[in-house]
Amino acid sequence: AAMRPELLQIGAFPPQVQAEIDADFHCHSLDALANAPALADAIVGIITRSNQRVPAEVVERLPGLRIISTFGVGYDQIPLELAARRGIVVTNTPDVLNAAVAELCVGMLLSLLRDLPRADRFVREGLWRQAPFPLAVSLAGKRVGIVGLGRIGKEIARRLEPFGVTLAYHGRTDQRLAWRHEPDLLALAADSDILIVSAPGGNGTARMIDARVLAALGPQGYLVNVARGSLVDEAALIEALQGKTIAGAALDVYDNEPAIDERLFALENVLLTPHIGSATHETRHAMAQLTLDNLRTFFREGRALTPVVFE
Ligand code: NDP
Repeated sequence: AAMRPELLQIGAFPPQVQAEIDADFHCHSLDALANAPALADAIVGIITRSNQRVPAEVVERLPGLRIISTFGVGYDQIPLELAARRGIVVTNTPDVLNAAVAELCVGMLLSLLRDLPRADRFVREGLWRQAPFPLAVSLAGKRVGIVGLGRIGKEIARRLEPFGVTLAYHGRTDQRLAWRHEPDLLALAADSDILIVSAPGGNGTARMIDARVLAALGPQGYLVNVARGSLVDEAALIEALQGKTIAGAALDVYDNEPAIDERLFALENVLLTPHIGSATHETRHAMAQLTLDNLRTFFREGRALTPVVFE
């Protein structure tokens, strides 16, 4: 097609999505950019995924860059200050993934409390005839604390309410909702049987779930992280799981994905999923459309559909 805007593409997309990208845009890889420096002057946009780092050095070398469109809601891998300073628009894919992430969170929590992975293995391995499966833990009646009650956190809270739990949340602002706001994270951990992490990654939240928070959660307490690995002190978490100073954890996100800390593999009281919060056909399709529509609308009309508002 004529006049396709020149994009730098960071990260891979499924073939069908790539075909749609290529129909409207002319994409170049980081390698192509490194091998043909003159290309830098032509690039007007970046298309990326929220798990890919967008290096500041690269953005600095693109004088005509006007927009960075990321596939995913997290933008902790994008140099936001630099983008703001340069007037570069950053877009993400909020809301369309809320249901999928909330569904995974609830599923992980129930699976952790009832130990479904082990129950499945127990049946397959023929152990049922020999002894009953160990008793597990109910969700009903538990106190659930949500760290980061945003778009996703609220959908998690709404889905948990019918289970008969007591909900409270921690965040920087009291949103004046039906659920109790707790400005002190340690107090929320101490008052919770289950702590769910759904705040954004980045500098402001790095390692906020540390050894002290885990100690406050206590030996009957469970942690669920569907946000980012960076929010949790992973070494402290592994130590707490090994020493059983918390009861268990369900993790979708980690430090150093996908080469995660293998000490986690040896632990029975942890449920591990491979960063699949938004990974359903329906949701990934909607995310791809929004990633592309942000770019299309921007180059056609000069405005983006879901720009990130810089704090
Ligand atoms: P939102 O921006 O809507 O919500 C974030 C919430 O976190 C807000 O309520 C905010 O409240 C709170 N928050 C922000 N900073 C802090 C802080 N320093 N301490 C405590 N709370 C804080 O984000 P979304 O709900 O759309 O997404 C949340 C995150 O989920 C994403 O950033 C992403 O990293 C992760 N995610 C993970 C996926 C997965 O596959 N596992 C998929 C999709 C998203 P306040 O401003 O009052 O502090």
